[in-house]
Amino acid sequence: MRPSRRQLAVGAFVILVILALQAGFFGYKPAKSTRVLFITAHPDDEVIFFSPSILRFRASGCEIFLLCLTTGNFRGKGALRVAELSKAAAALQIGPSHLTVIDDERIQDGHHAEWDADQVQQIIAEEVLRRDVDWVVTFDRDGVYGHLNHKACYHAVRRFLSGCLAQAGVSGQACPQAWSLTTVNSLRKYSSWLDVLPSALEAWSGQATMLVTPSLLRTLAAMSHHASQWGWWKHVLLTRYTFVNTLQRISDDPLSPARPPSTASATLKSLARVSHKARTARALRMGLDSTGLRGG
Ligand SMILES: [Zn+2]
Repeated sequence: MRPSRRQLAVGAFVILVILALQAGFFGYKPAKSTRVLFITAHPDDEVIFFSPSILRFRASGCEIFLLCLTTGNFRGKGALRVAELSKAAAALQIGPSHLTVIDDERIQDGHHAEWDADQVQQIIAEEVLRRDVDWVVTFDRDGVYGHLNHKACYHAVRRFLSGCLAQAGVSGQACPQAWSLTTVNSLRKYSSWLDVLPSALEAWSGQATMLVTPSLLRTLAAMSHHASQWGWWKHVLLTRYTFVNTLQRISDDPLSPARPPSTASATLKSLARVSHKARTARALRMGLDSTGLRGG
Protein backbone atom coordinates (compact mmCIF):
# COMPACT_ATOMS: atom_id res chain seq x y z
CA MET A 1 0.00 0.00 0.00
CA ARG A 2 1.40 3.40 -1.00
CA PRO A 3 1.64 6.01 1.78
CA SER A 4 -0.63 9.03 1.46
CA ARG A 5 0.70 12.55 0.96
CA ARG A 6 -0.17 13.35 4.52
CA GLN A 7 1.81 10.38 5.83
CA LEU A 8 4.77 11.40 3.67
CA ALA A 9 4.62 14.97 4.98
CA VAL A 10 4.49 13.81 8.60
CA GLY A 11 7.36 11.37 7.95
CA ALA A 12 9.48 14.10 6.34
CA PHE A 13 8.75 16.45 9.25
CA VAL A 14 9.78 13.86 11.84
CA ILE A 15 12.99 13.06 9.92
CA LEU A 16 13.88 16.76 9.67
CA VAL A 17 13.30 17.25 13.40
CA ILE A 18 15.45 14.21 14.22
CA LEU A 19 18.23 15.52 11.94
CA ALA A 20 18.03 18.95 13.58
CA LEU A 21 18.15 17.38 17.05
CA GLN A 22 21.17 15.31 16.08
CA ALA A 23 23.05 18.28 14.62
CA GLY A 24 23.01 20.10 17.95
CA PHE A 25 24.62 23.27 16.68
CA PHE A 26 23.83 25.31 13.57
CA GLY A 27 25.27 28.66 12.65
CA TYR A 28 28.19 30.61 14.05
CA LYS A 29 30.13 28.36 16.39
CA PRO A 30 32.69 29.49 18.97
CA ALA A 31 36.18 28.01 18.91
CA LYS A 32 36.99 25.28 21.40
CA SER A 33 38.05 26.70 24.79
CA THR A 34 36.10 29.94 24.20
CA ARG A 35 35.27 31.52 27.55
CA VAL A 36 31.53 32.20 27.69
CA LEU A 37 29.81 34.31 30.37
CA PHE A 38 26.06 33.85 30.83
CA ILE A 39 24.33 36.84 32.44
CA THR A 40 20.98 36.08 34.06
CA ALA A 41 18.57 37.99 36.31
CA HIS A 42 17.38 35.30 38.75
CA PRO A 43 18.38 31.94 40.17
CA ASP A 44 16.65 29.38 37.87
CA ASP A 45 17.00 31.46 34.64
CA GLU A 46 20.10 29.43 33.82
CA VAL A 47 18.01 26.22 33.77
CA ILE A 48 14.65 27.38 32.48
CA PHE A 49 15.97 29.47 29.60
CA PHE A 50 19.67 28.89 28.93
CA SER A 51 20.38 25.22 29.63
CA PRO A 52 20.58 24.13 25.94
CA SER A 53 23.23 26.82 25.31
CA ILE A 54 25.17 26.14 28.52
CA LEU A 55 25.28 22.40 27.93
CA ARG A 56 25.96 22.65 24.19
CA PHE A 57 28.80 25.16 24.65
CA ARG A 58 30.21 22.97 27.37
CA ALA A 59 30.01 19.89 25.15
CA SER A 60 31.86 21.88 22.47
CA GLY A 61 34.79 22.48 24.82
CA CYS A 62 33.96 26.03 25.97
CA GLU A 63 34.58 27.24 29.51
CA ILE A 64 31.35 28.48 31.08
CA PHE A 65 30.85 31.24 33.68
CA LEU A 66 27.55 32.36 35.17
CA LEU A 67 26.75 35.83 36.54
CA CYS A 68 23.33 36.02 38.23
CA LEU A 69 22.46 39.66 38.94
CA THR A 70 20.07 39.10 41.89
CA THR A 71 19.54 36.58 44.65
CA GLY A 72 15.88 36.16 43.61
CA ASN A 73 14.70 37.71 46.85
CA PHE A 74 11.26 38.85 45.62
CA ARG A 75 9.48 36.65 48.20
CA GLY A 76 12.22 36.91 50.81
CA LYS A 77 13.80 33.60 49.85
CA GLY A 78 17.06 34.98 48.49
CA ALA A 79 19.35 32.89 50.70
CA LEU A 80 17.49 29.69 49.84
CA ARG A 81 17.48 30.47 46.14
CA VAL A 82 21.22 31.18 46.05
CA ALA A 83 21.85 27.82 47.71
CA GLU A 84 19.59 26.18 45.10
CA LEU A 85 21.41 27.99 42.32
CA SER A 86 24.75 26.72 43.52
CA LYS A 87 23.51 23.10 43.25
CA ALA A 88 21.71 23.65 39.94
CA ALA A 89 24.81 25.25 38.42
CA ALA A 90 26.86 22.25 39.52
CA ALA A 91 24.35 19.98 37.74
CA LEU A 92 25.01 22.05 34.60
CA GLN A 93 28.76 21.55 35.17
CA ILE A 94 29.36 25.11 36.41
CA GLY A 95 31.44 24.87 39.58
CA PRO A 96 31.41 27.40 42.45
CA SER A 97 34.57 29.09 41.17
CA HIS A 98 32.72 29.91 37.92
CA LEU A 99 29.55 31.24 39.55
CA THR A 100 28.92 34.82 40.74
CA VAL A 101 25.71 36.01 42.41
CA ILE A 102 25.15 39.72 43.04
CA ASP A 103 23.44 40.89 46.22
CA ASP A 104 22.97 44.64 45.71
CA GLU A 105 20.09 46.77 47.00
CA ARG A 106 20.12 48.79 43.74
CA ILE A 107 19.52 45.63 41.68
CA GLN A 108 16.55 43.79 43.10
CA ASP A 109 14.32 40.94 41.93
CA GLY A 110 10.84 42.08 40.92
CA HIS A 111 8.51 42.57 37.95
CA HIS A 112 8.46 46.31 38.68
CA ALA A 113 11.99 46.71 40.04
CA GLU A 114 13.92 49.25 37.99
CA TRP A 115 17.65 48.63 38.12
CA ASP A 116 20.47 51.13 38.49
CA ALA A 117 21.80 50.93 34.91
CA ASP A 118 25.25 52.34 35.76
CA GLN A 119 25.70 49.84 38.55
CA VAL A 120 24.72 46.86 36.37
CA GLN A 121 27.02 48.05 33.59
CA GLN A 122 29.89 48.30 36.07
CA ILE A 123 29.28 44.83 37.42
CA ILE A 124 29.27 43.37 33.91
CA ALA A 125 32.47 45.22 32.99
CA GLU A 126 34.20 43.94 36.10
CA GLU A 127 33.09 40.37 35.49
CA VAL A 128 34.22 40.46 31.85
CA LEU A 129 37.62 41.72 32.97
CA ARG A 130 37.94 39.29 35.84
CA ARG A 131 36.91 36.25 33.82
CA ASP A 132 38.64 37.37 30.61
CA VAL A 133 35.63 36.19 28.60
CA ASP A 134 35.30 35.97 24.81
CA TRP A 135 31.50 35.72 24.61
CA VAL A 136 28.68 37.17 26.69
CA VAL A 137 25.20 35.63 26.44
CA THR A 138 22.05 37.14 27.95
CA PHE A 139 18.34 37.76 27.29
CA ASP A 140 17.11 39.78 24.32
CA ARG A 141 15.13 43.03 24.55
CA ASP A 142 11.87 41.10 25.12
CA GLY A 143 13.29 38.94 27.90
CA VAL A 144 11.48 35.74 26.76
CA TYR A 145 8.24 36.84 28.41
CA GLY A 146 8.76 40.52 29.04
CA HIS A 147 10.10 40.41 32.60
CA LEU A 148 11.57 43.81 33.40
CA ASN A 149 14.69 42.29 35.01
CA HIS A 150 15.37 40.09 31.96
CA LYS A 151 15.07 43.07 29.65
CA ALA A 152 17.38 45.05 31.94
CA CYS A 153 20.08 42.38 31.45
CA TYR A 154 19.91 42.96 27.69
CA HIS A 155 20.09 46.75 27.96
CA ALA A 156 22.98 46.54 30.44
CA VAL A 157 24.97 44.31 28.08
CA ARG A 158 24.28 46.67 25.17
CA ARG A 159 25.41 49.58 27.30
CA PHE A 160 28.55 47.74 28.34
CA LEU A 161 29.29 46.80 24.72
CA SER A 162 28.90 50.41 23.57
CA GLY A 163 31.31 51.58 26.25
CA CYS A 164 33.77 48.84 25.40
CA LEU A 165 33.67 49.55 21.66
CA ALA A 166 34.06 53.29 22.31
CA GLN A 167 37.28 52.50 24.16
CA ALA A 168 38.32 49.91 21.56
CA GLY A 169 38.58 47.31 24.26
CA VAL A 170 38.40 46.66 27.97
CA SER A 171 41.69 47.71 29.54
CA GLY A 172 43.68 46.52 26.55
CA GLN A 173 41.57 43.42 25.93
CA ALA A 174 39.34 43.04 22.89
CA CYS A 175 35.61 43.47 23.52
CA PRO A 176 33.75 40.20 23.91
CA GLN A 177 31.11 39.16 21.41
CA ALA A 178 27.65 39.69 22.85
CA TRP A 179 24.72 37.39 22.05
CA SER A 180 21.08 37.44 23.08
CA LEU A 181 18.57 34.65 23.54
CA THR A 182 15.79 35.03 20.98
CA THR A 183 12.25 35.53 22.26
CA VAL A 184 9.74 33.63 20.10
CA ASN A 185 5.94 33.89 19.90
CA SER A 186 3.74 31.94 22.33
CA LEU A 187 2.91 29.18 19.85
CA ARG A 188 6.58 28.44 19.32
CA LYS A 189 7.44 29.02 22.97
CA TYR A 190 5.17 26.20 24.11
CA SER A 191 5.79 23.79 21.24
CA SER A 192 8.47 21.98 23.23
CA TRP A 193 10.95 19.98 21.10
CA LEU A 194 8.93 20.62 17.93
CA ASP A 195 10.42 24.11 17.82
CA VAL A 196 13.74 22.56 16.85
CA LEU A 197 12.65 22.61 13.20
CA PRO A 198 11.76 26.34 12.84
CA SER A 199 14.85 27.13 14.91
CA ALA A 200 17.00 25.09 12.50
CA LEU A 201 15.45 26.88 9.54
CA GLU A 202 16.32 30.24 11.15
CA ALA A 203 19.89 29.07 11.63
CA TRP A 204 20.16 27.76 8.06
CA SER A 205 18.94 31.09 6.73
CA GLY A 206 21.62 32.88 8.74
CA GLN A 207 19.24 34.65 11.12
CA ALA A 208 20.50 32.97 14.27
CA THR A 209 22.73 30.36 15.82
CA MET A 210 20.86 27.33 17.09
CA LEU A 211 21.89 25.16 20.02
CA VAL A 212 20.06 21.95 20.90
CA THR A 213 20.52 20.47 24.35
CA PRO A 214 22.88 17.49 24.43
CA SER A 215 21.33 16.26 27.70
CA LEU A 216 17.72 16.74 28.73
CA LEU A 217 18.48 14.74 31.87
CA ARG A 218 21.04 17.30 33.05
CA THR A 219 18.46 20.08 32.63
CA LEU A 220 15.89 18.14 34.65
CA ALA A 221 18.49 17.31 37.30
CA ALA A 222 19.42 20.99 37.53
CA MET A 223 15.77 22.04 37.82
CA SER A 224 15.22 19.53 40.61
CA HIS A 225 17.51 21.66 42.78
CA HIS A 226 15.27 24.72 42.40
CA ALA A 227 12.71 23.24 44.79
CA SER A 228 11.32 26.66 45.74
CA GLN A 229 10.38 27.20 42.08
CA TRP A 230 8.72 23.88 41.33
CA GLY A 231 5.65 25.70 40.06
CA TRP A 232 7.77 26.17 36.95
CA TRP A 233 8.00 22.44 36.24
CA LYS A 234 5.07 22.55 33.84
CA HIS A 235 6.72 25.41 32.02
CA VAL A 236 10.04 23.56 31.85
CA LEU A 237 8.47 20.49 30.29
CA LEU A 238 6.44 22.42 27.71
CA THR A 239 8.75 25.21 26.67
CA ARG A 240 11.12 25.11 23.70
CA TYR A 241 13.81 26.73 25.88
CA THR A 242 14.34 23.38 27.57
CA PHE A 243 15.29 21.81 24.24
CA VAL A 244 16.58 24.53 21.95
CA ASN A 245 17.99 28.06 22.08
CA THR A 246 18.56 30.47 19.25
CA LEU A 247 21.07 33.25 19.78
CA GLN A 248 21.60 36.48 17.84
CA ARG A 249 24.61 38.81 17.83
CA ILE A 250 23.64 41.90 19.74
CA SER A 251 25.73 44.13 17.50
CA ASP A 252 23.75 42.79 14.52
CA ASP A 253 20.48 44.02 15.96
CA PRO A 254 19.62 47.23 14.07
CA LEU A 255 16.26 48.10 15.62
CA SER A 256 17.45 49.35 18.98
CA PRO A 257 20.76 51.17 18.89
CA ALA A 258 22.74 50.76 22.08
CA ARG A 259 22.73 53.77 24.36
CA PRO A 260 26.09 55.46 23.92
CA PRO A 261 28.19 56.03 27.02
CA SER A 262 28.30 59.62 28.28
CA THR A 263 32.01 59.84 27.50
CA ALA A 264 34.79 57.34 26.99
CA SER A 265 36.67 58.75 29.99
CA ALA A 266 33.61 58.32 32.21
CA THR A 267 33.46 54.68 31.19
CA LEU A 268 37.16 54.25 31.91
CA LYS A 269 36.64 55.74 35.35
CA SER A 270 33.73 53.41 35.96
CA LEU A 271 35.86 50.43 34.99
CA ALA A 272 38.54 51.58 37.41
CA ARG A 273 35.95 51.91 40.20
CA VAL A 274 34.80 48.41 39.44
CA SER A 275 38.32 47.04 39.70
CA HIS A 276 38.54 48.62 43.12
CA LYS A 277 35.20 47.07 44.09
CA ALA A 278 36.46 43.69 42.93
CA ARG A 279 39.39 43.90 45.31
CA THR A 280 37.18 44.87 48.21
CA ALA A 281 34.19 42.67 47.44
CA ARG A 282 32.97 40.98 50.54
CA ALA A 283 32.79 37.25 50.65
CA LEU A 284 29.54 35.95 52.04
CA ARG A 285 28.05 32.60 52.89
CA MET A 286 25.71 30.04 51.38
CA GLY A 287 28.03 27.52 49.84
CA LEU A 288 29.71 29.71 47.23
CA ASP A 289 33.45 30.26 47.23
CA SER A 290 35.01 33.46 48.50
CA THR A 291 34.38 35.30 45.20
CA GLY A 292 31.00 33.75 44.46
CA LEU A 293 28.47 35.98 46.23
CA ARG A 294 28.98 39.70 46.08
CA GLY A 295 27.40 42.56 47.91
CA GLY A 296 26.84 45.95 46.34
ZN1 LIG B 1 14.08 35.27 35.51
